[in-house]
Amino acid sequence: MAEEDLYDVLGVKKDASEAEIKRAYRKLAAKYHPDVNHEPGAEEKFKKINEAYETLSDEQKRAQYDQFGSAGPQDGFGGGQGGFGGFDQGGFSQGGFGDFSDIFGDLFGGGGRARRDPSAPRQGRDLQYTMTLDFMDAIFGKETTIKYNRSAECHTCHGTGAKPGKSAHTCGTCHGQGYVLHQRQTMMGMMQSQEVCPTCGGKGQVIDPADQCDTCHGAGVTQERHELKVKVPQGIDDGQQMRLQGQGEAGENGGPYGDLYIVFKVTPSREFQRDGDTIYVDQDISISQATLGDHVQAKTVHGDVDLKIPAGTQSETKFRLRGKGVPRVNGNGNGDEYVTVHVKTPKTLNKRQREAMLAFAAASGEDVKGVKAGFFDKLKDAFEDNK
Ligand code: ZN
Repeated sequence: MAEEDLYDVLGVKKDASEAEIKRAYRKLAAKYHPDVNHEPGAEEKFKKINEAYETLSDEQKRAQYDQFGSAGPQDGFGGGQGGFGGFDQGGFSQGGFGDFSDIFGDLFGGGGRARRDPSAPRQGRDLQYTMTLDFMDAIFGKETTIKYNRSAECHTCHGTGAKPGKSAHTCGTCHGQGYVLHQRQTMMGMMQSQEVCPTCGGKGQVIDPADQCDTCHGAGVTQERHELKVKVPQGIDDGQQMRLQGQGEAGENGGPYGDLYIVFKVTPSREFQRDGDTIYVDQDISISQATLGDHVQAKTVHGDVDLKIPAGTQSETKFRLRGKGVPRVNGNGNGDEYVTVHVKTPKTLNKRQREAMLAFAAASGEDVKGVKAGFFDKLKDAFEDNK
C-alpha cells in the first residue's frame, strides 16, 4: 500500500509554515475526532492526520521526512522530544484516543485541563475572612467568635441530596460524563466545544425530583451562617493570616471541607509605633531632667515602667527596654521597646525662671543677654504650637 503524502493528508503545501501546519491539523482533527465524527473511515482518517502532524510538527522529523520520505522511530530517530508530548502519552499509540480536552485544550480555551471524573470527591472552596484587631489585642491575643456564610453539608441527607432510602442515578443526558459536546458553525468550519452537562450540572448523576431531599432540594449542601470560636494568638501583626482547616465550604461527593483563612488588619495606636516585635515610643523630658538626670514613667504595652534618665542626656537619645516589646507568636519571649527622649526647651519663662537661666549662663561663663519676644517670635511660636 502506497504511503499517502503527509502534506496531502493535512492539505498543506510542502513549504507550509509551522503555524499553517498547526492550523490545518486542528481544523482536520476537530472534524474527524471519533468523539464527534461517527462516519465510516473517520477514525482511520483521524489517525492519519495525527501521524502526519506528529512528523510535520517536529522540525527534525520533518527534515528527515522531506529527505527520505519517511520519519519516525523506525528510522532511528528518538521520538518523544517533539512538542506534542501530551498526545504521545495520551494513550493514542496504545490504541485508545487521547482525551478530547487534552488535545484541544488550548484551542477551546481549557488550557489543556484534563477531564475530571464528575463523581470524584473534591475538597470545598477555601474562604477568607478579614478580622480587624485592636492594637493591644493583636499584641496579647484574644478569644472571639466570628460569623460568616458558607455552604455546609446538608444535615438532613448528609450530602447525598436524596431522601432516605433513595439515591442518584446516572445522568441520561451525558451518560455520567458530566459534559456534553457542543457543535457550532464558525468561519473556520465546524468547531467542537465541551460544555458542562445542562441536566446534571457536571455531576454525572441526577436525583429524580420526587427523590430529592426536602432540605437541600438535591444539592447535598445548604447555605449556613457559620459561627466559629477563634483564638487569636499573641503577637499577630498587620497583614498576617491564620489558616483554620476545614472551616471553608463543604466538599463535593464526600470530599473534605475547604479551609478558612483569617487575614488580620491591625488598628494603629496613637502612643506606640510597632515594627514586628519592636515597639517605639516618644518621651518628652525637660531641660532640667536632661541636665540633672531623673526617673520618668515610660509607657510600654505592658504598662508604665520606671526609666532612668542619666544626667547629661541629649535630646533624641534612644533607651532600650529589654523584653518590653511584643510577645513573639512562637511564644519565644518578647521583643524590645525603644524610648526616644525629646528634650523640650521652655517656650516661656516666668521672672524667676528667667533669672535662674541668666544666672546659669553667667555661671557657665556665657554672656547671654536674651531677647524680647517680638512679633516674628510670637508668629514662630504660633507655628510651632500647631506642629
Ligand atoms: Zn439534603
